[in-house]
Amino acid sequence: MFPGQLYKTESGRLFHAGANAIILVGLPARGKTAISRSLSRYLRWLGVQTKVFSVGNYRRQIIGVEVTNDFFSPVNKATADLRLKIANACLDDMVQWFTEGGQVGILDGSNTTEERRQELVKRFKECNVHAMFIETICDNPDIIDANIRSVKVSSPDYVGWDKQDAVDDFKRRIENHVPFYTTITDLSLTFVKVINAGERIIVNKAQGFLQSKIVYYLTNLHISPRTIYFARNGISLNEQSYKADAPLAPAGHRYAENLKNFVLTLRENTATSSPSSTSPQSETPRQLTVWTSSRKRSFQTAAHFLDHEEIIVRQRSVLADRNPGVCDLMTPQEIEEKYPDECLRAKADPYRHRLPRAESYYDLANRLEKVILELEREKNDVLIVAHESVIRCLYGYLNGLPESEIPSLEIPEGVLLEVVPTAYNTEERRYKIPDTVASVNWQQQSANLMALAGNFPASPMHMDHYLPDSIGRSIHDGNTTISSSTASSPTSTPSISGGLSAATSPLS
Ligand code: ATP
Repeated sequence: MFPGQLYKTESGRLFHAGANAIILVGLPARGKTAISRSLSRYLRWLGVQTKVFSVGNYRRQIIGVEVTNDFFSPVNKATADLRLKIANACLDDMVQWFTEGGQVGILDGSNTTEERRQELVKRFKECNVHAMFIETICDNPDIIDANIRSVKVSSPDYVGWDKQDAVDDFKRRIENHVPFYTTITDLSLTFVKVINAGERIIVNKAQGFLQSKIVYYLTNLHISPRTIYFARNGISLNEQSYKADAPLAPAGHRYAENLKNFVLTLRENTATSSPSSTSPQSETPRQLTVWTSSRKRSFQTAAHFLDHEEIIVRQRSVLADRNPGVCDLMTPQEIEEKYPDECLRAKADPYRHRLPRAESYYDLANRLEKVILELEREKNDVLIVAHESVIRCLYGYLNGLPESEIPSLEIPEGVLLEVVPTAYNTEERRYKIPDTVASVNWQQQSANLMALAGNFPASPMHMDHYLPDSIGRSIHDGNTTISSSTASSPTSTPSISGGLSAATSPLS
């Protein structure tokens, strides 16, 4: 039997070979739903059929949101049966889904008793589905309080409630669970314990490709707030050819300088105006790191940030745009004429189809997996300067978009995308980058950047370059002729009406 195959059990039901049930365990407000959603996003990105089964959603659908905390009390016999029925309805649907070919089902519920966990193991064993538990343990009161305030008080359970009343009520809900909660001690089970939001991870009996991937993914997760920006490369001297790897055109340098000025001013404005967040880790100012590929136009766009001591620029070859293969230098019309069958196949499956000797979006997504894990791990703010295809893939991942949508995502030129990961989703703003630069000695700057790129040739896939600040400063000294007065505040630019607030400036 091979992973990916469907097979029949003795009862005649069909199951996916290598199917995994991921079962969350933990008290309320421990991040079970947040972990379920992130993990599902990641596994789908890997091409694994994944679905989250949320017991909380089943409860809300079956009995509505009007429940008192008494409902959750494990000593309340009157509601115990109903709670079990709801949990089992969710479980039955999950088992049914495995029969339809599902590979990974994620059971998002509290599953806090040993008895319930043994029942689940038995049920999944009967249908040859591997059970893996993820227990999230948190005894840091600051994290718990921040979790309640950031997501629980705005849950459907508390619509119309006073915020403090909702917090107090949710804390009572947690207290109801505490006496009946036992941590996993059965070492025959496969489990991962995530302690205090990733401070410590304990792994037991995880095996196989998928479970190893899941464990590694969990080790990268954290709950510190951060912002991810995306901007496209500047225009190069040869836009038609991938192979030429042409340097930036003067207009590209101008754009790069505008981008830098805008990002720096935006961050300054945000730092002075941002209200205090509910997260316990949000007080420290975050550094900005710029990630770029080793393609000349990307790197040279990002290199404009090198004259800022506090900004690190990282060059990563995996961030290179899709290789167009034999279609390099060809217009879309020429490709249609020369490869009509390939074009039909590409239209039918734009994500997975690969033109001759080219990379598909699927290939690119695979190449970007390590960037994704690094993005999850990263606690600084990151600006990714890259080609449209690369931004489409990374943006698609962060927003959990289906692969079919990725090839046609619109990532406009001259726009800065700001994506803030939140507990369950992302918040997004788009800013038009204003043209604030008056005069720059482009030829001199271009020559210097070319020399710099020459010092850092395209790196092999496994190697990344960290560019020391001293290199950035040496470019700045005597070569750029931008005066600080030309880099005006974005709030004063006519292209953005009413300043930078989300309400006035986003393009979408
Ligand atoms: P409930 O049982 O009420 O559904 P839950 O355990 O599913 O609660 P979430 O709704 O996921 O809790 O809580 C989200 C909050 O948990 C977010 O603020 C998120 O930042 C935080 N969080 C995410 N991962 C963890 C973790 N490993 N430990 C603690 N908190 C986390």
